[in-house]
Amino acid sequence: MLCISFFLVTPISLNLSRFKEIGVTNCLTSNKPTGNHKCGDCFFCAQINQGKYLAFGGIYHTVRQFINCRTKYVVYIVTCSCGHFYIGKTTCPMFERFREHVNSVRTGKGCPKLINHIREQHGSDTQCLRFAGLELVPAPKYGGDRHRELLRKEAAWIIRATAIGPLGLNDRNEMNAFI
Ligand SMILES: [Zn+2]
Ligand SMILES: [Zn+2]
Repeated sequence: MLCISFFLVTPISLNLSRFKEIGVTNCLTSNKPTGNHKCGDCFFCAQINQGKYLAFGGIYHTVRQFINCRTKYVVYIVTCSCGHFYIGKTTCPMFERFREHVNSVRTGKGCPKLINHIREQHGSDTQCLRFAGLELVPAPKYGGDRHRELLRKEAAWIIRATAIGPLGLNDRNEMNAFI
């Protein structure tokens, strides 16, 4: 009996210390800092707007979730150094969507007002752009359509921030389904 107890207990205590080593306890207690953070491993880390607070178009917003360049299912904002901004959503890692915006200035395929703004006001230099997550849409606990909820939140943000107004670079037809 003594031998059996020894073999049962020892592997469990080893496993617990292994969890601590790889940070599993941190994930379980959800103590990640809120706000936007660099992922530390993408080409666009230098252009993420870090921190908890975002100010744009007269709005001051506190980000209440942990978001980094690789966060998916997020309503994001692309801000320009001159104060203009664009609001969008993505189901892909946020930096990949930002890369599409950057490339669109060269290719001309993307959001027309954003492309024209960077071409005409900033000589096509996308270094004036920063991106950040406004709100992460979590997976629904009891089923439901996560993508539709993402679309709904995006439209709400565009209306709240008047992203189709003077400083906004969204086009009115991006919200057809919800207005
Ligand atoms: Zn990154
Ligand atoms: Zn600008």
